[in-house]
Amino acid sequence: MLIDAHCHLDFTEFDPDRDAVMAAARGVGVKHFIVPGTTCARWQAVLALGQQHQDVSVCAGLHPYFMDEHRDQDLARLACLLNERSELVAVGECGIDARFDATLDAQWAYFDAQLTLAKQHALPVVVHCVKANDTVAKRLRQRTLSRAGLIHAFAGSYEQARKFVDLGYVLGLGGAATYQRAKRLHRVIRALPDDSFVLETDSPDMPLSGYQGQRNEPCRVSDVCDVVATLRGQAREHVAAISSANAARLFRLPFAVD
Ligand SMILES: [Zn+2]
Repeated sequence: MLIDAHCHLDFTEFDPDRDAVMAAARGVGVKHFIVPGTTCARWQAVLALGQQHQDVSVCAGLHPYFMDEHRDQDLARLACLLNERSELVAVGECGIDARFDATLDAQWAYFDAQLTLAKQHALPVVVHCVKANDTVAKRLRQRTLSRAGLIHAFAGSYEQARKFVDLGYVLGLGGAATYQRAKRLHRVIRALPDDSFVLETDSPDMPLSGYQGQRNEPCRVSDVCDVVATLRGQAREHVAAISSANAARLFRLPFAVD
């Protein structure tokens, strides 16, 4: 079995054919989807997906890419939602995107507040971290969350990977791994312990090699699995099983992985 540990199935890109996209993923062995929440305005759509589909688990957070959509009161709304909705499996997507330095101070304020909420609710965090691995790892070490979380779409160095893994975080491997030029990431993937990564697509973003310019879809987590298995010199079935078990453990999914 496969789990897509990070896909934005609520995004409008999937409005025309969401059911077909999910069916295609199930057809290649995807048994579960983790859908993060990105803005206050989208949380209801994310929660609805979780209610409609037994194989969807959902999260709620305020994503650093959408800073101009967030309002201070959204943090209070997030706190309310976490009190009310026991099906939420994590706080996120939250984090730091240092490509947008004009909003960096505000990004840190929202990220810190969401780390506090994760701690209060004993939930893991789903972390978006671009060009900020060292500062984010430092902050996560200072903040010690009881259930750590997912560093999604990890693309850093082995030293940075090690910092997150030593803190108990799991790394999300996705489309970036499929590019031949990603030599540094390939070295990281070869060296990671079995219990330290999950597979993800970040659909509709982060298309795989060969699909540039196209909408990414959860069925391609199967291709990610093939690439990771080849890099690690492990059987595809082994990589599928351990990555699914890691996702199930991290998000406390309501089923056992065989
Ligand atoms: Zn994402």
